[in-house]
This record gives sequence, structure tokens and C-alpha cells, in this order.
Amino acid sequence: LLDLGERGDVRIADPAEAGADGERLAFRRHLREAIETGAILLQYQPQFRANGEVVGFEALARWRDPVRGVISPATFIPAAEEGGLIAALGAHVLRSACREAAGWKKPLRIAVNLSPLEFESDELPGLVEAVLGETGLDPERLELEITEGVMVTDAVRAMATLSRLRALGVRIALDDFGTGYSSLSYLHRFPLTTLKIDRSFVATLGVTLEAAAITRAVIQLGHALGIEVVAEGVETPEQFDFLICEGCDLAQGYLLGRPLDASAYAHLTGG
Ligand code: C2E
Ligand code: MG
Ligand code: MG
Ligand code: MG
Repeated sequence: LLDLGERGDVRIADPAEAGADGERLAFRRHLREAIETGAILLQYQPQFRANGEVVGFEALARWRDPVRGVISPATFIPAAEEGGLIAALGAHVLRSACREAAGWKKPLRIAVNLSPLEFESDELPGLVEAVLGETGLDPERLELEITEGVMVTDAVRAMATLSRLRALGVRIALDDFGTGYSSLSYLHRFPLTTLKIDRSFVATLGVTLEAAAITRAVIQLGHALGIEVVAEGVETPEQFDFLICEGCDLAQGYLLGRPLDASAYAHLTGG
């Protein structure tokens, strides 16, 4: 790692920095191998209606490494974005999730997370169309989860992409709602089908009065716009009861079901 000094002389960069760069490159190389060899797996977390009916599952990526154990998507998704691997990873996730759902006996929904870089790629609508074709999954059963940032960066472009995706018949969820910067005016202009109330609000229900007020307001806002509302991170019966009383459509969280391998939910999917 050579660096040009101010006067154009060559000097060796900070060795600590070189070590960090080396580690990052090694991690990236491992990640590329993991994507290619199928070591990136999906777990599925169920989403329920108030009456206990399962509506579908969210697919959550896991990296199972023989040496490092299970690596969290919070670690490897950003690394994939930085390392130019997100397109390959995203295509793998989308394909695996749709193939899995297409095999269920019950026509349940499958939600797939998209990172901002995936959403902004010109290839996305074509990829989604191809995967639906390959797997035969009914487009109405696929929900793509995006985050608020993608609507703010380039609203015109985001609108065009969302329209193309909706034209394919897929659903669009706004994930982690309330943590980003989206203006309320975007909500009714973008063709969203689902709002996901961020876990941080659900976690503080019963702790702060604000959390209850915000959660109630988001449910009402969603319904006023004809959008289905999902609460994420439901961990206690008190949280679940509050959400159901307030009319929240769907709930997802450890109380109701943890993210698990698809086989663990065969009783819900019909096998
Ligand atoms: P997310 O989409 O908001 O997913 C919800 C996260 O909350 C998941 O973490 C899930 O395991 C966790 N969770 C669910 N219920 C509960 C609960 O009751 N309590 C608590 N404390 N946590 C709960 P996970 O699987 O670690 O994923 C973290 C984030 O990584 C996801 O947040 C999503 O943004 C991203 N991610 C996961 N899989 C993928 C993927 O395939 N592609 C992309 N682009 N991003 C992904
Ligand atoms: Mg999500
Ligand atoms: Mg979320
Ligand atoms: Mg979240």
C-alpha cells in the first residue's frame, strides 16, 4: 500500500490501515466465495393477522461459515455493497426466496429485502420479471421491501422503478418506517402496498407515551392511504394486544415466530 506524499515522494501508508484494508479484502473474497458456493442461506419469519392466520414470511439472509459461525446480514450486506457484490447476492436471495415460496402448498406471501443499491440498479425490474418467470411464483405473492432513503435520493427515478415493479404485479413494502427521512407527501404518491412500523417504536410501546402515539398515527395514516400496516419486532403479548386493538393488520416478531429454516415452518406453509 504505497501512497504519494505531498511532494510526490513515495511513502508507506499507516501499517494499521494496511491491516484493516487487508482484512476487508479477505472478508470480501470470503463473501464472494460464500455467494458462489451457496453458503448464504435464507431463514423465514412468519407474519400473522390478528386472528392468528399466517399471511406470509419475510426472507432474512444468513451467512453460515464453517469457521466464523453465523454472520449477520447487518455485517455482510454493507460489505457486499462496498465490495460490488450486492447484485450477485441480491439475485441469489431473490431467486432462492421465490423458489422456496413457489414450492409451498399454501399460496402465502414472501417478502424480500432490497438494499438501496439493488433498488437503484437498472437491472432490478428485469431480474424480478425473470425470477417470477423461472419460478412460476404468482407476482401477487412477492413483496419487495425498500427503505425510505430510496424515495428521497432520486424521487423521480424511484417512482419510475416502483411503477415498473407494480406493473409486474408485485407488492412493495416500506421497511423500518419512521426511522428515515421520507416526507409524508411521498407516501401517497408512491405505489406502496405495505408500511412496516419500525421495531424501535414497537419496542418502546408501554415504555414511552410517544411510541404509542406514533404507532397509532402510523396505523391510521396507512389505512387512510389504503396501505396495509405491519408491526415488526413484536416481542411481548402486551405489544401484540396494543397493536391489534389499534387495528394494525399484521404482526411479526419473536413472540409469534423467530426467523428459522423453511423446514421448521412446514406446518404453516403446508410443506
Ligand atoms: P429488517 O428487514 O428490518 O428485518 C428485521 C430484523 O429484525 C431481522 O434481523 C430480524 O431477525 C429481526 N427481528 C425480527 N423479529 C424481531 C424481534 O421480535 N425482536 C428483535 N429484537 N429483532 C427481531 P436480521 O435478520 O439480522 O436482519 C437485519 C437487517 O438486514 C434486515 O432488517 C434487513 O434490512 C437486512 N437484510 C436481511 N436479509 C437481507 C437480504 O436478503 N437482503 C438485503 N438487502 N438486506 C437484508
Ligand atoms: Mg425487512
Ligand atoms: Mg424492518
Ligand atoms: Mg428494522
